[in-house]
Amino acid sequence: MTTIAPSLIVHGGAWDIPDEHVEAHIAGCRQAAEVGWKLLCDGASALDAIEAAVRVMEDDPTYDAGRGSNLNAAGQVELDALIMDGATLGAGSVAAVQRVANPISLARLVMEKSEHVLLVADGAEQFAREHGVPICQPQDLLVGRELERWKALQADPTWRTPQAFKAASDTVGAVARDVHGNIAAATSTGGTSKKLPGRVGDSPLIGCGAYANTCTAGVSATGWGESLMKVVFSKLVCDKVEQGLTAQQAIEAGVRVLAQRVGGLGGGIIIDREGRIGFAYNTPRMARAYIVKGDIVSDV
Ligand code: ASP
Repeated sequence: MTTIAPSLIVHGGAWDIPDEHVEAHIAGCRQAAEVGWKLLCDGASALDAIEAAVRVMEDDPTYDAGRGSNLNAAGQVELDALIMDGATLGAGSVAAVQRVANPISLARLVMEKSEHVLLVADGAEQFAREHGVPICQPQDLLVGRELERWKALQADPTWRTPQAFKAASDTVGAVARDVHGNIAAATSTGGTSKKLPGRVGDSPLIGCGAYANTCTAGVSATGWGESLMKVVFSKLVCDKVEQGLTAQQAIEAGVRVLAQRVGGLGGGIIIDREGRIGFAYNTPRMARAYIVKGDIVSDV
């Protein structure tokens, strides 16, 4: 079998990442990219690489994913995650889980060990228990920084608007193309801060928070979920590649549609079928790291 050069890109979320958090966001993205890249270079599948990279960022309390996530209006962490295999178009996702620290791995189990694509809340946690996934207590995922922010937001009448959560949300995601040319994409999030309990955003929805098709591209999105869903952002960007755009052109076109059609905010990362990497966003920042000729490039 021919082997081809692998590609990898990760993101650590859109929005106005405050200056004092920039270093931590870059460091976490770099660490995740290094872990995923080593796996890819050792011949691992794109799926294994992105799952491992996303787990690194879920474990890092810097991000709005796993431990450290934003709190909903009731002061609870509710996590969403999606993983997709571009070789088979298989996908697995979970939403509104409160007792699983690495929802991306639970999403992968949904893809591989169930006949379903999306499990939510108690049902997803029951499935986790049945498959030996470690169960934690909701407070294990809560960090002081988010509790303080939640308390401050109680007095903020603008909390239902993107302006209220733009300084907070830092979803994570990864896209890879492995030595066999297969593309996979993943996204994991605690969602937007002070969301209503039970609110599910774009992240766990196939085609919205992520999409992967080895014949076109893989995309992971971040930003205002209610706008990303309306344009089915990740699939829209993959379709642009099918129409002949490069990775960079496609993600830029997707962000334009997001902004012009629904006044949306956000962006994403992409790898196309040629292994080309792209990223674009219309928020002030989006943390990311990717590999160019074996070296890591990172920025916000
Ligand atoms: N897209 C995520 C959501 O709406 C949040 C984010 O990416 O910042 O749940």
